[in-house]
Amino acid sequence: MLFRCKNCGGNTVYSPEKGKMYCPHCDGIDSGEIEGAGIRAECVNCGAPLEIKEYNSTCKCEYCGSYIILDERVEGEYRPRMVLPFQIGMKRAVELLKEEFKSRVFTPGTFLAESTLEEMKGMYVPFWLYDYKADINYIGKGTKVRVWTGGDTEYTETSYYRVARNMGIDFRKVPVDASIAMPDDVMDLMEPFDYNASKEFQAEYMSGFYGEIYNEGADSLEERAKRKAENDADVLLKDTLGGYTSLIPERKDICLSRKEANYALLPVWRYIYKYQEKDYPFYVNGQTGKIIGSTPVSRKKVLAYGGTVFAAVWMALSFLIGIMEIL
Ligand SMILES: [Zn+2]
Ligand SMILES: [Zn+2]
Repeated sequence: MLFRCKNCGGNTVYSPEKGKMYCPHCDGIDSGEIEGAGIRAECVNCGAPLEIKEYNSTCKCEYCGSYIILDERVEGEYRPRMVLPFQIGMKRAVELLKEEFKSRVFTPGTFLAESTLEEMKGMYVPFWLYDYKADINYIGKGTKVRVWTGGDTEYTETSYYRVARNMGIDFRKVPVDASIAMPDDVMDLMEPFDYNASKEFQAEYMSGFYGEIYNEGADSLEERAKRKAENDADVLLKDTLGGYTSLIPERKDICLSRKEANYALLPVWRYIYKYQEKDYPFYVNGQTGKIIGSTPVSRKKVLAYGGTVFAAVWMALSFLIGIMEIL
């Protein structure tokens, strides 16, 4: 389908800033929907051929610039259970990136001036959100040691404990991206998303953006969600096990049972900068503005930085360059 302005006939899009549909041609806010843009190979607006890739749920006509939403890919089994609409618009995303580049100690001075922006896309990335109930059973042997002195003698008292924990945890919406094209580690770093702002799916939210259907089903991607939930359960368990001098686990069971898995679309901006023949992708969380990406490291700057502080800092930081997480 395609959304058309009732005033001027232009293609209306969803505006993250305004939080509603608008027409970029006349600023009108009244839009109607044109049905019939299935997985046909031509644009409903101008008839030009469209290039539709395997998982695309929307595409942009190269000739007239219209954003077309492919009906069959937002309906039935592909209708998302929920969507987080973009809250960060393109202008804001660019501002955030520029601030980011300026603040980076390790970016070569020429990166901003000499890199070219190769691609800039707002994308609704398909995710599965899993709900789990976790049952944790833990048994361990703990000791607490108390040392004191009386007169010339030092006394040591060791108390032994049987430590047992039985916990139940509800995990809601553990996210795993269902797009092969998106790197898993980067998508994990995009978290957290605030699901309180989620909306019931409507095709309008996708107008003006790119989108994909889930590339894989909830069952085949579940291992990643389980690992996340297990790690979190482990952290929560450890929080309750403080205060012992030593603690030897005898049994630890974390049992997860899946309650639900829901299909959702989450907003991500992807920018690709080209610098000295190499692509540098950056990802901006379309809801929170969090940036994940890496810039090239200038050796001179790294050394200068290490020299003015101390070598250990330089060592530690140079390992972090691959993927950096910046809030
Ligand atoms: Zn208009
Ligand atoms: Zn067209």
